[in-house]
Amino acid sequence: MSDALPAVEAAAPAPARRGRFTVRALARRRAAVIGSTGLVLIAGLAVFAPWVAPHDPAAQDLGNILAPPFWDSAGSWEHALGTDALGRDTASRLIHGARNSLMISFAAMLIGSLLGLAAGIVSGFFGGKVDTATMRLGEIQLAFPFILLAIAILGVIPGRTPLHLILVLGIPGWIVYARVVRSRVLAERERDHVRAAAALGARRSRQLFRYVLPSVWQVVPVIAMLDIGFLVIMESMLSFLGLGLPPRFPSWGAMLAEGRRNMVISPWLSILPGLAIMLTVLSVNLTADGLADVFDPKLRKGTFRRTVLRLPERAEPDTANDHGAATRRAAAPPQRSVEAGARHAPAASGSALLRVRDLKVEFPLPGRTIKAVRGVSFDLGRGETLGIVGESGSGKSVTALSIGQLLDSPGRVTGGQILFDGQDLTRISDRAMAALRGRRIAMIFQNPTASLSPVFSIGFQMREAIRRHGRLHREEASRIAHDSLWAVGIGDPDRVLGQYPFQLSGGMNQRVMIAMAMAARPDLLIADEPTTALDVTTQAQILERLRDLVQAEGTSLIFITHDIALVAEHADRVVVMYAGQICESGPTEQVISEPRHPYTRALLESVPRPDLPAGVRLEAIPGELPDPASIPDGCPFAPRCPHVMDVCRTVNPDQFPVAPDHRAACHLWSPDRTRAGTP
Ligand code: SF4
Repeated sequence: MSDALPAVEAAAPAPARRGRFTVRALARRRAAVIGSTGLVLIAGLAVFAPWVAPHDPAAQDLGNILAPPFWDSAGSWEHALGTDALGRDTASRLIHGARNSLMISFAAMLIGSLLGLAAGIVSGFFGGKVDTATMRLGEIQLAFPFILLAIAILGVIPGRTPLHLILVLGIPGWIVYARVVRSRVLAERERDHVRAAAALGARRSRQLFRYVLPSVWQVVPVIAMLDIGFLVIMESMLSFLGLGLPPRFPSWGAMLAEGRRNMVISPWLSILPGLAIMLTVLSVNLTADGLADVFDPKLRKGTFRRTVLRLPERAEPDTANDHGAATRRAAAPPQRSVEAGARHAPAASGSALLRVRDLKVEFPLPGRTIKAVRGVSFDLGRGETLGIVGESGSGKSVTALSIGQLLDSPGRVTGGQILFDGQDLTRISDRAMAALRGRRIAMIFQNPTASLSPVFSIGFQMREAIRRHGRLHREEASRIAHDSLWAVGIGDPDRVLGQYPFQLSGGMNQRVMIAMAMAARPDLLIADEPTTALDVTTQAQILERLRDLVQAEGTSLIFITHDIALVAEHADRVVVMYAGQICESGPTEQVISEPRHPYTRALLESVPRPDLPAGVRLEAIPGELPDPASIPDGCPFAPRCPHVMDVCRTVNPDQFPVAPDHRAACHLWSPDRTRAGTP
């Protein structure tokens, strides 16, 4: 978990490019395209009404009243949509009605949104009396029904103008914006990056405009768009009641009211303005839905659905971790089977529970694609513990989430296979995957407190997890929960079962998570940095307990960590990852005692070990991981490697065998060089 998110957040598009991406993203949503097309057409008619309307909307022709529209046998194209009771052209009045209705609604929305945005920001950010006063004012206003308030005010204004209507409709709308913006600001100002900015001395105005506002404003355009639809209806309703625009301004509401008087002989006089209102509001709402998806992708339908690979595995270069693919792709054979990939996979074994082959995971973002995992292959035997180690951003957590098929949007597996007991997890149905999760594949994460719901007791959550897969009675589930807590070293399970996560320490919560994961006796447990957030003593206790449990149950364990010293203690085999690829793999003892890849050596030299002689300085690895969206050709470690050669900058090395079952992706170990006795 730790290394996936920062990479994605870091890749957020620059604000200057946001507009272009918004239009493009909007264009990919069919409903939004229909809505915005309708809206543009209606707005175009409104803006160009004086030139588009065939007649003066106020011109009366008493000799041609209630003329039918063109589809009636008595109609004519001179007045395509007929005339009203005063002989005025209906089409021209509808077009000018759109102009008035949209102009008033848009101006009222602007007033309400600007007032609400300002009030919400001030109220949420400064809090205290300002917040209380603002919210009380809003509550008082909401106590009066909006439409009654508008009727009462407009009813006493003689000689109403569009400005009166704009103010009466616009000002009360502030509270809707203010409440939403305030709640977003309240959440945002407590976030770590805002606190960090404050701790670094950023003034309050800078915190507000630089760190809070950019995360808050996106909600306003969506509410504003929905507000326009609401205001079109309100304006029409007031005009229908005779409290809207004076008669010299055509309005859909007034047309509806006039048409009602001639409903029997000229029904289109009511139907046409009603249709105009309906189509406008529909267009506005569809556009608003599209905007909501674009500004907050997490609201999009299906966002959290995993992507199932439908097609059979296609040919890839002939190595499991063919890092030199870029330069040798042309020479690669057209098809590669799983077995071909297995040729270079560590610990290939007939009894492997999990076989990951040439796994590729990408995060497509506007304008760039993050390649988080690039052709990773490894095996995990039954009852074996595999440590995956690497810096944050190396792709280890994304690999783990891919195995659990729990990648967050927009991440998706784009290639390769994850064969769990023979089933390819990238290609099985959601239902089949859900049946595996919890029962046969379990996961525990870095932050145990965040992994447990704060509103349910530990007992409730454990029973629910146990019963979801076991169809057990409550009493039986309670007994299993009790025994599982006991097994992870909790001395008083009954007390803990009745407590809530916030009443327990981080270490206790992680024990609960392990107990919950192991209660179903899964075949595979993935522990993603399970002790990173805990102190060293608790860390040691929990890892020891975890090791005992998986050994006792025969569970296979994938243990992900950035701490190679922990892997040395707890894993049978180790996979070292760098920039989304495996750079070294093999039996833990051998990799730790005889590291072959310069990155593994650097990792080992940067962690304190008990066997280090006194006075030996720990070495930090110079430089940083490459940008995952633009990893250069050649070995990704080349910019940081003390042994870099010319070939390293152009050819990404294969995984070369350095000892039985021990491989390193480094040109130092290419057969040509080793034959010449170079390494
Ligand atoms: S020697 Fe070359 S291939 Fe090996 S790690 Fe260094 S840069 Fe990469």
